[in-house]
Amino acid sequence: MSYVERVMGLVRNKNPGESEFHQAVWEVLESLTPLLERRPDYQHQKILERFVEPERVLMFRVPWLDDKGQVQVNRGFRIEFNSAIGPYKGGLRFHPTVNLGILKFLAFEQILKNSLTTLPMGGGKGGSDFDPKGKSDEEVMRFCQSFMTELSRHIGADTDVPAGDIGVGGREIGYLFGQYKRIRNEFTGVLTGKGLNWGGSLIRPEATGYGNVYFAHEMIKTRSDSLEGKTCTVSGSGNVAQFTVEKLLQLGATVVSLSDSNGTIYDPSGIDEEKLAWVMELKNIRRGRIREYAETFPGTEYLEGKRPWGIKCDCAFPSATQNEINLDDATTLLENGCFLVSEGSNMPTEPAAMELFLENQILFGPAKAANAGGVGVSGLEMSQNSLRMSWSREEVDGHLQRIMQSIHGSSYETSIEYGDTGNLVMGANITGFVKVADAMLDQGVV
Ligand code: NDP
Repeated sequence: MSYVERVMGLVRNKNPGESEFHQAVWEVLESLTPLLERRPDYQHQKILERFVEPERVLMFRVPWLDDKGQVQVNRGFRIEFNSAIGPYKGGLRFHPTVNLGILKFLAFEQILKNSLTTLPMGGGKGGSDFDPKGKSDEEVMRFCQSFMTELSRHIGADTDVPAGDIGVGGREIGYLFGQYKRIRNEFTGVLTGKGLNWGGSLIRPEATGYGNVYFAHEMIKTRSDSLEGKTCTVSGSGNVAQFTVEKLLQLGATVVSLSDSNGTIYDPSGIDEEKLAWVMELKNIRRGRIREYAETFPGTEYLEGKRPWGIKCDCAFPSATQNEINLDDATTLLENGCFLVSEGSNMPTEPAAMELFLENQILFGPAKAANAGGVGVSGLEMSQNSLRMSWSREEVDGHLQRIMQSIHGSSYETSIEYGDTGNLVMGANITGFVKVADAMLDQGVV
């Protein structure tokens, strides 16, 4: 039995039922095999065994009062997975599907993603099974205050710096920050994704979507092509999806889909800037469903309960959630001529589907590389907070573009070094891992 198989067996035995965590660990460990052959010191020092074990897992009760005065109880989590190269850093997810296994998979991915950005950030993730959908602003505020009352004991600007994720946007970050400041009596960069006039960074809301499109641009350049004139499908309609569409439009692509957990809209004439502004209002202010798009813009189809992958496209940008592209979806995408998939959401592609994309040698941007722009700009927000300065839109966007170029460049170089040119899954995993593993070796058995 190989070293990787042995460690994988340990992960399955010690973390029963955490299928998403097993999936994420296996995808990484499998692709590290050629590196481990060159670096026997990792095995001697039990680096993999240490790497798959979170440094700390926090799980806590979050009681709050709803608008009727009834007591509600949710579960809160924070996974402080790895701090070898910097303070724990990673978002908070508020969604009814949240559980320990999902947050451990996200925190594990985050370690490598943060390493790839070249910034000094460790890996963490957290959240709750709380569902902000259908709740009043006051209910969301009371929940956030209760959540932060416990979380505030464990985080800090030099310890652990959470941000947003699914269900946690500007409104939630505001309530969380307010409560932290009140309890700790300090105004520090303890969260990123803050409002612009209280420590936030320009381009942070746009960063994950823009970054993913910059990454796709780098991939397509290797084939002497561009995104201009390409037909693109995007899933989701939240933060990442919205700014993916915005940047694709700026680069001359046509975007024909968006979705939410109820269904997909297919607009063959393309979502233009005006329609996108309407979607932003629908999702960020009115908090409505994407179905309303089809009711508002003639010529649009609403595909109830469907994902966008049956729609013919050149490039696909999954931007909703994990495991949203299965083997059938991948087969359909390829049959329809799709030659680029760039992952905005975390782990959207199931293992068999990813295998098929790699076999067919399409341009495939794995999430930990392609969506690292969000945490990259969060890192820049931390730097600005430490300096007590703020940089211009152009400066931050320039940094973001350089970060995405550097992630693509280093992952691509590594894929060449390990004999599988263009396999960015392997390239990103090895590049991200080596930096963290070497830091762990330097710091001794801790
Ligand atoms: P948002 O909450 O803003 O939007 C999420 C979108 O995905 C919504 O349209 C939502 O629909 C849909 N969605 C959520 N869960 C499901 C589900 N189980 N099935 C189908 N659709 C679903 O989140 P973000 O845009 O911030 O995050 C999207 C993805 O990007 C996530 O995987 C996240 O981890 C990843 N990501 C986000 C970053 C960021 O900076 N925000 C950074 C890096 C990665 P509905 O409204 O119906 O729930």
